[in-house]
Amino acid sequence: MTDPYGMAKFNRSRFEDFWQVLGDQLNSIRARDGLVGVVEALKMEQLDRGFIQDDLSGVIKYRMIKDKDPEHYFIVQYNPRRAQRFSGAGRQTPPSGSAASHGGCFLCRDNIRWQQRGIEYGYDVHIDSPGGQRHYIIWVNPFPLMPNHITVATSSHRPQAWLLPNTEMGGWVTRMDEIGHDFLSILGQMPGYLGFYNGDGAGATIPHHFHFQFFKRIEGQDGFPLERAARQGGECRSVDGPWLVPGYPITAIHFRGTREQVETQLLEIVGKWEKMFSDPHGITANLIGSLDAQDHTIFDLYFIPRDKTFNRGAGMVGVIAGLELLGEIVYSTEEEKRSLDRGQVNYDFVERIIASVEAPRAREFWNIILGKQGSGRYA
Ligand SMILES: [Zn+2]
Repeated sequence: MTDPYGMAKFNRSRFEDFWQVLGDQLNSIRARDGLVGVVEALKMEQLDRGFIQDDLSGVIKYRMIKDKDPEHYFIVQYNPRRAQRFSGAGRQTPPSGSAASHGGCFLCRDNIRWQQRGIEYGYDVHIDSPGGQRHYIIWVNPFPLMPNHITVATSSHRPQAWLLPNTEMGGWVTRMDEIGHDFLSILGQMPGYLGFYNGDGAGATIPHHFHFQFFKRIEGQDGFPLERAARQGGECRSVDGPWLVPGYPITAIHFRGTREQVETQLLEIVGKWEKMFSDPHGITANLIGSLDAQDHTIFDLYFIPRDKTFNRGAGMVGVIAGLELLGEIVYSTEEEKRSLDRGQVNYDFVERIIASVEAPRAREFWNIILGKQGSGRYA
């Protein structure tokens, strides 16, 4: 009689063997073409294997231009395949001989093997930091929003939130120093890409397992609406920033400079945002980053302060995460498509969707950054 545990063990060891062989192959690609070359090659492997399909083919994009002002626009992406992601791409229950860890979490490597029938593979990335080395895995997104859409998840199961209860001392501990460090470290190796950290309750779809997302810019396409607005300058604290992105429907704080400059400024202002909440349960944010197209030592980083109780845009099914904050709204249901076809979605409508997730105290926060707290209308 066949032993199911024996065969499960056989499959697990074959999975580990191939993971190792693929890792060696990707390491040699990395030595030549960097992390960007790895992402490209991993995507090709996952396409060839049939884990992902060329599924951006069904995407339709609409440009919603502001009345009498063609320079200002938002983008609406209709992406019907995204609607399928809720039904899950993989198996729900483990076969005999395997067990689900952490409730069958979709970002835990042990689950991914049986959930995705042994065809989803990732790439190990180790990030050096003063606090030690941290281990991430790059996974290719089966329901992409953009080209080369990847999830960079921690190898271990840990929450997405950056404020965590301090089990020993009571109170809360912040992990933004680690998150900011690791985000900028990966971003620095990803020219031509945009990176995201969507906080828990700020568009993160898997809040129980820590992850970043990255995708490749579409060649020849001008910057996203948020980036275009940021180029106008805006109110700033000093000549080195940070800047408040002008004329944008949500408070977005822009840092620009070397990695060290943006990391230092980010940690300082995140500390101010944390201090504004007496109950840290509500606090969250989005980070969006990219490298300057010409000078890859210059980083653009955006911090969008968020409040967990305001995380879903009025007028859409999905949550408001990094791409939406860049000015590209994602629609995926047939009902949403009908509202697009009927012309019910225009510039003002998208502007209202983005504005609807503005944290109530975001402008007060900006005034605190400027050093205006305790005076004027916020006193
Ligand atoms: Zn997990």
